[in-house]
Amino acid sequence: MQCGCQQPLRIKDVEELESDEVFARFHCVDCDWTVGAEGSVKDLDPLVPANTWSDEARYHLSRLPPYLANLVRDEVETFAHDQHYQMMTYARLVSARNKGMVEWSPEAERRLANVPSGIRTMAKTELERTALDRGMPEVTVVLMEEVKTRYFGMATGRS
Ligand SMILES: [Zn+2]
Repeated sequence: MQCGCQQPLRIKDVEELESDEVFARFHCVDCDWTVGAEGSVKDLDPLVPANTWSDEARYHLSRLPPYLANLVRDEVETFAHDQHYQMMTYARLVSARNKGMVEWSPEAERRLANVPSGIRTMAKTELERTALDRGMPEVTVVLMEEVKTRYFGMATGRS
């Protein structure tokens, strides 16, 4: 990303909005111009330099004891490198700490048990893949409802 004055824009901060949206602010040191970009983590990821931490992820890190914060930072940045992520969001931090494993909320787990056994494995895989794609650390009931509508044709009438 370049400023109008041809200087490279530097990332200033990344703020997490709802779901997987973020607001990234870029700054030009030369003319002191600031520009913001809003979009999904996936879309903005290629625009930021490696190891760009969101405010939320940074805050989480700052609350850990210093020795642990350093370990977690290394762990998350190594994981991000392996996964070709540039941006560290809170969800990605959690996912990195789980080594890319997706957790299930207790309610989502209960619901999965009620899915007919013939399609349970497929549903489980699809849900975990979708959660990982979005950088979500956990499969929730809300995600289940959405995926159910989209993939299994059990539309609830909402558009
Ligand atoms: Zn400039």
